[in-house]
Amino acid sequence: MTNIALGIESTAHTFGVGIVDFNGGTLSIVNDIFKPEEGGLHPALVKEQHLNNFDIVIKKAIEEANITVHDIDLIAFSQSPGLGPILKIGAIVSRLLSQKLRIPIVGVNHCIAHIEIGRLMCQIEDPLTLYVSGGNTIVSAYESSRYQIFGETLDLAIGNMIDSFAREVGLAHPGGPKIEKLAEKSQKYIKLPYVVKGMDLSFSGIFTAAKKLIESPEYGNSYDLKDVSNSLQETAFAMLTEVTERALAHTEKKELLLTGGVAANKRLQNMIKYISEEHNARFEAVPLRFAGDNGAMIAWTGILKYLSQGGDLINDTIIKPKERMDKIPIPWRK
Ligand code: AMP
Ligand code: MG
Repeated sequence: MTNIALGIESTAHTFGVGIVDFNGGTLSIVNDIFKPEEGGLHPALVKEQHLNNFDIVIKKAIEEANITVHDIDLIAFSQSPGLGPILKIGAIVSRLLSQKLRIPIVGVNHCIAHIEIGRLMCQIEDPLTLYVSGGNTIVSAYESSRYQIFGETLDLAIGNMIDSFAREVGLAHPGGPKIEKLAEKSQKYIKLPYVVKGMDLSFSGIFTAAKKLIESPEYGNSYDLKDVSNSLQETAFAMLTEVTERALAHTEKKELLLTGGVAANKRLQNMIKYISEEHNARFEAVPLRFAGDNGAMIAWTGILKYLSQGGDLINDTIIKPKERMDKIPIPWRK
């Protein structure tokens, strides 16, 4: 039997466990996702939920994989980036498992894991990646032994911006899919701030302006939510598309990977697909099960890291909430 890794994702809303074999076969994925009743992700509340549920999630993942805990050969966990109190839970649980089972442990960067699971699932070699989620907005590609960052948000992540707008207009979390449905019903475009600075993006202006369109009495409530939703998507996605296209022209990559929870959006997929075709690049969107935060991406990246450089020393498994992906060498890619 081939070796097996258990990966733990714990950077934000999701406590996820994935069990993956060393050939890249996924045996199970189980997620417990924090959903705020109001407001955003309160770290203390998320931490509490993860603490209450981690053992059930691990147990379920092991059961679904049809293995026992003693079949596991490697523990991988999300070590960076993320919210400190939440990262800590995954790190502590992983250390405990590694020590108890006497098996190696490796820490993994969450953003790199999104790219690696995309490369595996879509069977592509060397993509330019647009990673869009609740917590991240990054355009990245491999160059000079690193996943370089070609563009990123300067303030809000795209998913967070859409969710926050949705919350303002009374839609429950997560707002992304609801705003997409509303936007599909509109053809009308209302101008919103389009902010691209060099290769970086800013979404806070769109958020404020869209919110005002809905709220302000001086507009006499003349703006329909579906038209504002459409305009918000069109503006934000056009910004993402512009930066991604420039990175594609610069890097001359022949594959383009769209990943993260917002990759589920059909309008964004179409816009990114269009520029891929313009540049003769193959377009792939990561299958939804693997696009949002999950433990399988952590397990798979852990396997790649372990096979190229072995396990981490326990002293090297401290969390790194602010670590950037472009600082991390990638020895498994030459
Ligand atoms: P993640 O942080 O990768 O787990 O992804 C969660 C984010 O994806 C949330 O901000 C969701 O609102 C967003 N999302 C999920 N589906 C869609 C969609 N169809 N359109 C836009 N955003 C979406
Ligand atoms: Mg993510």
